[in-house]
Amino acid sequence: MATDLLHRRHKLLGEQAPLFYQEPLHIVKGEGVWLYDADGKRYLDVYNNVPNVGHCHPKVVAALSDQAATLNIHSRYLHDTILDYGEQLLATMDSSLEMLFLCCTGSEANELALRMARKFTGKQGVICSNASYHGNTTAVDALATLFNNGQPNGPHVEAVDYPNEYRPLQGLQGQALIDAHLQQIRIAITKLESQGSGFAGVLFCPLLANEGLPNTPPGYMQQMADLVHYHGGLLIFDEVQAGFGRSGSMWGHQNVGVTPDIMSLGKPMGNGHPIAATICRRDIGEFFRAEVMYFNTFGGNPVSCAAGKAVLDVFEEENLLNNVLNIATYLRTACLSLAEQYSLIGDVRNRGLFFALELVEDPVTKTPASQASQFIVNAMKAEGVLISNIGEHGHILKIRPPICFSKENADQLVHCLGHCLQLWQAQQHRGT
Ligand code: PMP
Repeated sequence: MATDLLHRRHKLLGEQAPLFYQEPLHIVKGEGVWLYDADGKRYLDVYNNVPNVGHCHPKVVAALSDQAATLNIHSRYLHDTILDYGEQLLATMDSSLEMLFLCCTGSEANELALRMARKFTGKQGVICSNASYHGNTTAVDALATLFNNGQPNGPHVEAVDYPNEYRPLQGLQGQALIDAHLQQIRIAITKLESQGSGFAGVLFCPLLANEGLPNTPPGYMQQMADLVHYHGGLLIFDEVQAGFGRSGSMWGHQNVGVTPDIMSLGKPMGNGHPIAATICRRDIGEFFRAEVMYFNTFGGNPVSCAAGKAVLDVFEEENLLNNVLNIATYLRTACLSLAEQYSLIGDVRNRGLFFALELVEDPVTKTPASQASQFIVNAMKAEGVLISNIGEHGHILKIRPPICFSKENADQLVHCLGHCLQLWQAQQHRGT
């Protein structure tokens, strides 16, 4: 059965279409934090951030199906759900973020954010990090550096190193490390200006999620924002991964204490239903509206808005932000204790229920342990726990479960991770 699916898939989607795991999973059902394969085997989902409030949450499913059975149409008619939802969403943010543009994917939301910044400033140049991924449209793909040796994929883009306290530039720390990174931004601005692109702004994920969730020196984000504004640019935060409570704050920018001029949302926004948004300051949004007749056929339709609203309601009813904080503290303690037992774990980082465990061959040289990471991800899957890896070398274990994760779920994860670390160690001893 699985072989047949794989064969049909290769033929239709191409052999290079990405698939997780050495032996791909055939998932047929989801419920809460659980996924079930075609043989009825149950997996603990510790990877998927899209079904943020739990796979197939009954309240979200009911909101979707009720609205689908009543009306689904584009947003060029008056409808209350888009307004009820939008007002509820914006009430969770800084009051300066006043205007909402709804679309369908994180890529589209970032594309729109770039368009707005470029229109508003009249400049083209954008700065991103040198291990970034912000989506798949042409303009956004121009910023892709993650699998591109740190080099942006298109014009009008400059990439800078992202700050990382575990692997600091020139061994610097604190303000000296911040200064070194700010200097890179100054140089990038000068370069964009001298090339004729000008400087429209910076696009960063506030948590630097795809970069591997590095700890940045306190104060970096604020000083970076000040520098960007000083040079007439806008600060765009990509909250596609960072948003909706993941970090223990409702928004990643609240977690790092810096309000952007424009932000993009996606992934968990509809708990799996494709809804995304670009949110911005009123002056930027009004300027853009006056210049461009922006319309998105599916963006802001009543079914999407009903799903988005149900997600926010569940979030409050189940006090999920509190759950993130409680479980994150519990899980962090357990991960730190594993790190004491296994020197393979060089660094344990987390922002709420987003954990990055950086695996290194040697704690002094910090050589990325990419093979170990691959082994552990696949071994854990065989034992019924789904995680993944991130980072330029794929050596960072990525732990990012639905946020309804419980203590018992955390215990199962840690137990399985400990066992797979043991298996890797035993295999290494046998090999030497
Ligand atoms: N921004 C970030 C930070 C992402 O991780 C992703 C997807 N991995 C995107 C944007 C693109 O979102 P989508 O796939 O919904 O277009």
